[in-house]
Order: sequence, then structure tokens, then C-alpha cells
Amino acid sequence: MKKITIIGSGFSALSASCYLAQSGHDVTVFEKNETIGGRARQLKAQGFTFDMGPSWYWMPDIFERFFADFGKKPSDYYELIKLSPAYRVYFGVEDFIAIADNLDEIVNTFESIEKGSGKVLREFMAEAQSNYDIAIKDLVYRPGVSPLELVTTKTALKVGQFFSNISRDVRKKFSNPRLIQILEFPVLFLGAKPSDTPSFYSFMNFADFGLGTWHPKTGMFDVVRAMESLARELGVKFVTNAAIEKIVVENKTAKAIVINGQTITSDLVLSGADYHHTETLLDSEHRAYSEAYWDSRVFAPSSLLFYVGFDKKIENISHHALFFDVDFYQHAKDIYDAPQWPKEPLFYANFPSLTDPTAAPEGMESAFFLVPLAPGIEDTEALREQYFDVIMTRFEQLTKQDVRKNIIFKQSFCKNDFVSEYNSYKGNAYGMANTLLQTAFLRPKLKSKKVKNLFFTGQLTVPGPGVPPALISGKLVSELINNQFSLA
Ligand SMILES: Cc1cc2nc3c(=O)[nH]c(=O)nc-3n(C[C@H](O)[C@H](O)[C@H](O)COP(=O)(O)OP(=O)(O)OC[C@H]3O[C@@H](n4cnc5c(N)ncnc54)[C@H](O)[C@@H]3O)c2cc1C
Repeated sequence: MKKITIIGSGFSALSASCYLAQSGHDVTVFEKNETIGGRARQLKAQGFTFDMGPSWYWMPDIFERFFADFGKKPSDYYELIKLSPAYRVYFGVEDFIAIADNLDEIVNTFESIEKGSGKVLREFMAEAQSNYDIAIKDLVYRPGVSPLELVTTKTALKVGQFFSNISRDVRKKFSNPRLIQILEFPVLFLGAKPSDTPSFYSFMNFADFGLGTWHPKTGMFDVVRAMESLARELGVKFVTNAAIEKIVVENKTAKAIVINGQTITSDLVLSGADYHHTETLLDSEHRAYSEAYWDSRVFAPSSLLFYVGFDKKIENISHHALFFDVDFYQHAKDIYDAPQWPKEPLFYANFPSLTDPTAAPEGMESAFFLVPLAPGIEDTEALREQYFDVIMTRFEQLTKQDVRKNIIFKQSFCKNDFVSEYNSYKGNAYGMANTLLQTAFLRPKLKSKKVKNLFFTGQLTVPGPGVPPALISGKLVSELINNQFSLA
């Protein structure tokens, strides 16, 4: 049995804590914030409940696989609801496409918008499913140690898809701009532009149309609670309000962490905090990646978020609503090519109280609004308010109602908060993008290249951004740790 210190309590750290405790180790999780869950924390205020980060529960099979590793099921801890429609995409005033909860209806929707596209969509989805089977059921469970992990008889047949991109692929098959945007949307979760994301990543389209959009009954935080319960059942200990200040290294081996000036020794340190931040806890000679390295990476966007409580029910909305009524590609340029506050922002709105009445007091609505932003961008109160005004004006016009006068609670969260709350590099919201050159073995390593007994997990390492990848990342790093100790 080894004494293991885990830094942070996001999904990747929670996952690793469960696997390591199951293997018989003595595991303690140290979290700098007052509550656990990392970017998936919950905010409660004036009777409203908000998930602060993730809200799309995709790839339910990954959650099932995680709990099955412990002889459990998600339903042992939380109830899942399949959203129907999965989401709406707004293109103009009361002009939206609703994405149904099953492929047959989605095919009909496509066909009604572009003749012949229904059949093409079925073919596209068959390929997307085949990619899902290869990528998500197999490749993402490999630790990113060697390029050979990606070379299988199945990937050899798909090699062309690594050298084309989603944007090009979708345009070859569909011509209607709305359908193109809907098919480009899922890969945004990977943190890069669709034109920089390999076609092989169409497995995200299968996650979307094929597997559906789900909602844990009282929010994504149900999953945090579930994993904490499981971890505690397995013997994991949690310490909150515990910001780790330093990782002590002796003879090139991680020996201890320092919190509030107090040194706590352990056999092994595993960090689920942002990789860049964790390396700043080391003396510079022990860091594996330079500042220039981090600066040259493509990071997933930061976000401007507003958690809003309305004192009435909101009309003409769905649980998830995407507002694509302005130029999708200009906003992408404002994030990736010439970083600046978007001239005309796309935004996303989430209304959990439509599905979960406990998320708001009776007769009221809880919502969050999200604008993706370039990481590292200037963040001021004045800019936040300026953009709140812009998106509220558009929201009122597009859904044809007045809502601003009904706001009784509002809290914003933006780049500066990502830095101060999570020690996020450049205030990124969801890690390092999954571009071709930042995939698998090309991502920062799970095992420190310079310090023995120091490991990493989370969205800056493999497999990448998102809640399902975080669960997998925790499993991968635990396997590496167990391999090292069984060989020692
Ligand atoms: C606004 C937003 C929306 C998102 N939407 C979705 C979605 O809909 N679906 C989806 O699948 N994914 C979504 N994501 C991505 C997903 O939430 C993340 O990929 C995932 O939660 C990251 O988990 P993690 O364990 O890598 O990191 P984190 O959750 O960031 O955990 C890291 C933890 O380390 C702690 N920490 C940092 N420094 C220290 C220190 N020195 N000492 C102790 N603790 C420290 C932090 O406080 C934090 O708790 C979203 C993310 C955001 C921000």
C-alpha cells in the first residue's frame, strides 16, 4: 500500500482516487476550494441551483463503464433523463431547429431542410459510429505513451480521416449552412475549430445524434456527488480549503506537498490541477515543459458565464439552446486566429429548471448563459456587462419576450475567475484543445518526465477536454501508477 496525495478534486482526480483506493492505496484528495468538483462545482443562491461548468451529459456509456469498474451503475447514485428535444439551435427570430432524441426524426428534419440529406446523414452517422467504436471504446483508453498506440488494423483503414478535417468533410456531404453548423457544433467540445479537427473526430457526431443528450435529474453535480460517495466508500479522504503551495522533490523524486507552510509526506503525488499550474509548484529544474511550450499550444476557449435567476417562467426555450444567429466562423476567428472579444458573439443558454423543478423556486427559472472567448483575453467588469447587455437584447428578440426586468439573481464568471478559482492557464475553461498535433502521445504526459513518483491527470493531458475524458484520464493514470508499483 502506498500513501498517495492527489491535488484537486475535479472529475479526473475523483476518478483516479476511486481506482487507486480500489487498488488498496491510502489516498487523500486536497482541494483548494471550499467544495469539490473543480470546474463542475455547483452554485446555490436565492433558491436557484446552477451547475457552474459542464451541463451536457454525453457518452453515457463512459459513465456506465466507470461505475461498472467498481461493480456499480450510475443509477445506484443518480437518475438520468434523456432530453427530448436534445437541444434547439436558433438562427433567427423564433426560427430554430430542434434536434430530436432519435436518429430517425433527425434524419427527417435534415431531409425537410435539404433534399437528399437524410440518406447522406445516415451514411455519415454509420461512419461516425464506426469511429466511435474505434476511438472511444478503445483508443482513448491508451495512455499516450507511444505513437504505436494509434496504429491498429482499424485505424490503418481510416488514415485519410486524420489528414482531412471535420469542416471539409461535412461540406463535401451537405450544402445547407444550418445543417453544416449543426454537424460542426459537437467537435467544439474538443476545444478547437472544426477546420482544425481531424475528420476522424466525427465520433462526436455519433455521441450527439446517436447516443443522445442526457441530464442527471438534479444536474451534473449529481455525478460529482456520486463519485465522491463512491470514493468515500472505497476509503478516500478529502481535505478542502487546502491549496497546495509546493511539491517537494528530493533526489529527483516527489516526496511531499506543502500546504499552509505545513509539509505532508507521501510516496506519490498525483495532480488533477491544471498541468501548467502543477509544474509551477516545482522548482524550475524539475519542470518538464517550458513557458514557451505552453504558450505555443492551442488552448480550448475561456468563457464568459452568467448564472441568472428569473422570477417568472421563460417562454420559447429548451433545456439547451444554441444561438447561432450570427457569423459562426467570425466568432471562431475571434477566439483562435486574432484573439479579441467577439464582434458578434454566439452564445449558449441552459435552462435546467425546465427538466428539474428543484433548480428554481416555483414559477421561476434558473439559467446560465455562456459566450466562448479566447483564452488569455482581457477581462473587466465593464466588458462583462457590455456583453450581458448584447446577449440579453438578442435573447429577447430571438425568443420574442421581455426577460431583463425579471432577473432577480445574477452572477458572472469569466477568465479572471478561471485563473483565481482553478489556477487555470490563461483562464482556459476546458483545457488543451484536441487538434491533430495535440492528440494522444502528443499531449503532455501522465507521468512526469523529470520527477519520479509525480503523475498528472485531467484535461491538459490524455485523452483531453470534457467530463467523459476526465473519467478516462483518472483510470489511465491509475493504471500507470499501479504498473510502476507492481514492477518496483
Ligand atoms: C463552462 C464550462 C462548460 C463545460 N461544459 C461541458 C459539458 O457540457 N460537457 C462536458 O463533458 N464537459 C464540459 N466542460 C469541460 C469539463 O467540465 C472539464 O473538462 C472537466 O470537468 C475537467 O476536469 P479536470 O479534473 O481535468 O479539472 P478541474 O475540474 O479543473 O479540476 C482541477 C481541480 O484542481 C484544483 N486545484 C487547482 N490548483 C490547486 C492547488 N494548488 N491545490 C489544490 N487544488 C488545486 C481546482 O480548484 C479544481 O478543483 C465544461 C467546462 C467548463 C468550464
